[in-house]
Amino acid sequence: MKIMRINYTNVGIAVSLLVVSFIFFKLSQLKNHSRTTSITLQTTGRAVEPLIKDKAADLFDDQLQKAQDTLESLKRELVLARKDTVKENRMDQPHVDKKKRILRFNGQRLVHLDLKGAPTKMDYLIQVLPHFQKWGATGLLVEYEDVFPYKAKYEVLRAKNSYSEADIKRFLEAATANDLIVIPLVQTFGHLEFVLKHKEFAHLRETEHFTNSLCPNNKESVPMVLGLIDQVLALHPGVKWFHIGGDEVWNIKTCSVCQKDARNKSELFVHHMTPILTHLKNKQVTPVMWDDMMRNWPVEYLKELGPLVEPMVWAYASDLTGYYPPDMWQRYGEAFKTIWAASAFKGATHPWSNFVPIGFHVKNNLNWLNIISKLPATLQVNGIALTGWSRYDHYATLCELLPAALPSVAYCLQTLTQGNMDEELIKSTAKELGLPEEFRINQGRFNDLYHPPNGTFPGHEIFTLVGHLEKAVYDTRGVANLQQGWMLDREVESKFLSYFQVESAYNKTVHGLKILTALQSEAERVLGPVYDDSVIKEWVKDKLDGGVKHFNSLKPQLEELRKVAAGEEGKQ
Ligand SMILES: [Zn+2]
Repeated sequence: MKIMRINYTNVGIAVSLLVVSFIFFKLSQLKNHSRTTSITLQTTGRAVEPLIKDKAADLFDDQLQKAQDTLESLKRELVLARKDTVKENRMDQPHVDKKKRILRFNGQRLVHLDLKGAPTKMDYLIQVLPHFQKWGATGLLVEYEDVFPYKAKYEVLRAKNSYSEADIKRFLEAATANDLIVIPLVQTFGHLEFVLKHKEFAHLRETEHFTNSLCPNNKESVPMVLGLIDQVLALHPGVKWFHIGGDEVWNIKTCSVCQKDARNKSELFVHHMTPILTHLKNKQVTPVMWDDMMRNWPVEYLKELGPLVEPMVWAYASDLTGYYPPDMWQRYGEAFKTIWAASAFKGATHPWSNFVPIGFHVKNNLNWLNIISKLPATLQVNGIALTGWSRYDHYATLCELLPAALPSVAYCLQTLTQGNMDEELIKSTAKELGLPEEFRINQGRFNDLYHPPNGTFPGHEIFTLVGHLEKAVYDTRGVANLQQGWMLDREVESKFLSYFQVESAYNKTVHGLKILTALQSEAERVLGPVYDDSVIKEWVKDKLDGGVKHFNSLKPQLEELRKVAAGEEGKQ
């Protein structure tokens, strides 16, 4: 027989839910009223101040959003409170402390520096290292790609803004001084665009016009990558681990020679990687390799590489439920003694992103803590690398810049070291970064009510700059949405246009244009202390000039549409 008991927590939450639901209902009514009023004014031919209307709509949007957030949070609390009541009533279960930390991660915590084609000035990089250490990093995973000072026949690989040997030595000394281990990363199979784009190495390509991967049957392939590894090793004496990349070899077994090879793709992968792994092992260096090519392998194949490598298992999504093949961890547990994990602090949402969604990356790291807590007991996790991709590949535009992502580094490292991310930790980390107390790690809207905060960490001006840029990007997306909903060819041709929506698109265009134009003159001043001229030129061209051009061509079109929408012929 069930005994009904009053749970006052549940009652309190339920009452709050009712009150917020009522406020939400009233706000919705007010918003609808506001829109009706605007449309009525327009149809009666009275001028409406566009900016005031836009701001008013934004204000309602914001209040509605807040009310909706509160509703969602209360609903979640009610569900949790119900669950807790059930748990408390079951005497066979241990008491669950809601504030209990999930897991503090005590292994290596590496910050990945993806320097391809856009190295920060060495002085800046060195300036950042003590902050990494203070926030909880124990090391760095350094991917130089074309900015390493390659020599002799590899000199052609060097970008114009590559580092000098003296730079690297200074960097390594600073890392040691800050108790940060360094693991260099050199790609050895796929993602070798920076090598295979050059005519000197084009004959090593697996596919004639694809510059991404090597042909594993070309006898020069392995010696070529060993040459790269040895030059990097020579400048990194005493390293314990070396990362050989090995991810996303998409076009394996496609050339005429490999197609005739009796071995399957996995066997060809093992064939190519084994001499590279052995080369490092012989030098008393433990190789680390991305795991994605092996995720579906039967355990016998995995066991071939087991004694040679520590795989780095990567996943950057904010929810990793069902992300891996169901029996993958068990197979890895049978084949490998030690693995690494890789989460992300930037460069994992869109190839064109500028603004770093911190909450997204914090969730990704929390998911990793959860995965690690459930791994087979035989599998040891040496560490987690927080990846921070700068470009999706050698040819891609820059995504989030490192200085714009430093708050994300701090929050992700804190998540790993503290095993959680709660309100208290959000506030204390914001304070550490010099960000305002009310700083939120989940920023959903970038309207007039959003004011990009400033901090005190190195390069904080760039963090603020991309906050402003995101407001213009928000306008761009807003205009595109309005165009796709209210300004399609049929609507324009038949002059069946909503003045309200056309004007809203026009206002967003003017607003976005104003921001981008201001940033064009600001960018050089802000980026100058961190990046060289070539990076600044690229960033301004891709991120600002393109947007200015887009808005400038859109503005007269929307002006025309506004005239049409305001005319008598528009009101059918
Ligand atoms: Zn081939």
